[in-house]
Amino acid sequence: MSTDHTILTDKIARGTLPPSPHDHTSLRLGNGQLCDGCDKAVLGADTEVAVGFAHGLALRFHVDCFGIWHVAARAATGQVGELRSTRRPAAPRVQQ
Ligand SMILES: [Zn+2]
Repeated sequence: MSTDHTILTDKIARGTLPPSPHDHTSLRLGNGQLCDGCDKAVLGADTEVAVGFAHGLALRFHVDCFGIWHVAARAATGQVGELRSTRRPAAPRVQQ
């Protein structure tokens, strides 16, 4: 397991990172702010995953760190499984 994976699972175990399901995510280019997972800067060349919760907490992750957190958080809450796509089926096309 990678160091980042260990850091993230430790943070969840200590309660620094929430294991609760998040409300929404959005992607944007990094701007040098620190990743809540690995504590390293998310630089402009990296994609930042912004995670929001219904109760207002917001986190940011590198894409890889988000994946680790998501899987570890699900494992911590007993929801073991693969990353689930949130993509919805495309709306049927209307023939004209
Ligand atoms: Zn990170």
